[in-house]
Amino acid sequence: MAKMGYPFTLGVASGEPLSDGVILWTRLAPDPLHPTQPGGMPNRAMTVRWELAEDEAFTKVVQSGTAPAQPDWAHSVHVRVAGLRPAADYFYRFSIEGHVSRVGRTRTAPGPDSTAPVRFCFVSCQRYEHGHFTALRHLAAERPDLVLHLGDYIYEYGKPKNPKPGRYVRPLESTAECTTLGAYRDRYARYKMDPDLQAAHAAAPWVAIPDDHEVRDNWAGALPGDGGSPAAFLKRRAAAFKAYYEHQPLRVHPSGSGLQNYRWRPWGRVADFLLADTRQYREGRDMLGAEQEKWLKDRLHGSAARWKVLAQAVFFSQRRFPLEPVSADAWDGYPDSRARVLAAAPDGLVVLSGDVHSAYACDVRADWADPASRALGVEFVGPSVTSVPGITDASAILELNPHIAFFDSRHGYVSCVADMENFRADYRAVAFVDRPGAPLTTIAGFEVKENRLHRTDV
Ligand code: FE
Ligand code: CA
Repeated sequence: MAKMGYPFTLGVASGEPLSDGVILWTRLAPDPLHPTQPGGMPNRAMTVRWELAEDEAFTKVVQSGTAPAQPDWAHSVHVRVAGLRPAADYFYRFSIEGHVSRVGRTRTAPGPDSTAPVRFCFVSCQRYEHGHFTALRHLAAERPDLVLHLGDYIYEYGKPKNPKPGRYVRPLESTAECTTLGAYRDRYARYKMDPDLQAAHAAAPWVAIPDDHEVRDNWAGALPGDGGSPAAFLKRRAAAFKAYYEHQPLRVHPSGSGLQNYRWRPWGRVADFLLADTRQYREGRDMLGAEQEKWLKDRLHGSAARWKVLAQAVFFSQRRFPLEPVSADAWDGYPDSRARVLAAAPDGLVVLSGDVHSAYACDVRADWADPASRALGVEFVGPSVTSVPGITDASAILELNPHIAFFDSRHGYVSCVADMENFRADYRAVAFVDRPGAPLTTIAGFEVKENRLHRTDV
């Protein structure tokens, strides 16, 4: 049998940090876009070796073992490591048949009593065709404790027949929209070959939730968003979630057409990260579904952490536009659900969002129009990594929405530091995405005081 080609072409990743463990990920793919065999792999199970060390040179290996890579799961590898020290850096790598992967750095969460600060970044909306993921390269250089990905990790669209000039920077192979497991796998492979994305995964553990484009534009619950049948859509969703799992360091498998995305990731006494799913359980005017809503309200109510970080995909605050109606795809389309979440929200609520391809900072308050009304928390909406923004008229947005303190349509990410007193968010932007090498600047900074935004950079 011929020797396998270098199989770690899609990089390595880690995620889901707990105080004693993480998930390590890779996928074997010597020929990532092979037309008939996923990843160019033979149709048989393989065994991959992994090592975890306290140092980057692997002189102090603390754990090692083997893990299966099954053809049914596109030869993806998910290693559940436990028994680690809290709030500690670790380094990991994989090997098979003499090939060794790059080294990834990961980090465990702190123990329950920790008051040490947490440094994390959040990102969303990385459309491959729309540009270079330079922002993720800069993010990697920050070596945060944690990266949150708030959705649109891939886009399912095919290559358009007549792309608009200036918007189609990096061509895709396929003109067809992803609808099958094979097509979603190829799309992830295309994205995962990106060196900037690989650098960001190798720099820190990630906690990711999908939004719509991991499946289909604007899907909600069992509805595809195009009037198609729920039965056909649920089959497509099952394929999409399977491919999502195969390419993320997740703790849970998909089950049929479902994937358990809502979860709690505690970070000592400083922060409770509450990841919410704002797609899968939508029904009628209900954003979260009864079960998830109860979970979220109980977690918000019971949280003893200084900051309750509600990390989810879609715009949470009210948002009015000069011409269009309010967005039915965001929380504005589900105002009763939003009101119920806010009624349960204690002091220290920080909502994080993506989806809209522009950066915003919002005061969440009892009456959106009245600055004197009760402050309920803040929302930081991240910019897109590359996806082209829809609206760019900052003065119109700010004028119509007195609770919105900041709006900007450059690409980038948000870098946050939270401790027992402060929550700080810095908006980082790249100067361009149509070619590599863009420098990074910080375009706005905020702190949260008494549940209100305070701008720190002007
Ligand atoms: Fe998007
Ligand atoms: Ca989206």
